[in-house]
Amino acid sequence: MNLQGRCACGAVRYKLTADPLIVHACHCLDCQRITGGAFVINMWIESRCVEADRSGLKSYLLKGGSGQKHEVFFCPTCGTYVWSKYHIAPGDCLFVRAGTLDDPSVIKPDVHIFTRSKVPWLELPKDARKFESIYQIRNVWPAASLQRLDQSAGAPA
Ligand SMILES: [Zn+2]
Ligand SMILES: [Zn+2]
Repeated sequence: MNLQGRCACGAVRYKLTADPLIVHACHCLDCQRITGGAFVINMWIESRCVEADRSGLKSYLLKGGSGQKHEVFFCPTCGTYVWSKYHIAPGDCLFVRAGTLDDPSVIKPDVHIFTRSKVPWLELPKDARKFESIYQIRNVWPAASLQRLDQSAGAPA
């Protein structure tokens, strides 16, 4: 997959050097607020697989639904949110917004999370994997992704 993207003004550009570990569609209220949309599509990937000049990015600290910190990174010129770091998530990983890809159509959510706050008019596909809130990584992720996470985290998920 060609996973390159940028912010609206182009000052921030990035390239993912591997496929995402998993792709979340998150329907939580924080994600609705910071995107201004019905949900966000996040590509969960190791930080080291995100090639970018990070020096120009600004960040803002939110308190996530879990009570743990959620740090949102954005371009200070145009304000586009390009990725997040969830302090509760294992491993040194980022959640990159799939909507900022040059071609967002190459990405499809593997799971829908926080569907308890999903907007009522949106109907998810019948075969979609969905969770009211979060889920157990070990029960959901493919083996190859679990292995990669273990390598990046050094801690059990
Ligand atoms: Zn920008
Ligand atoms: Zn969310």
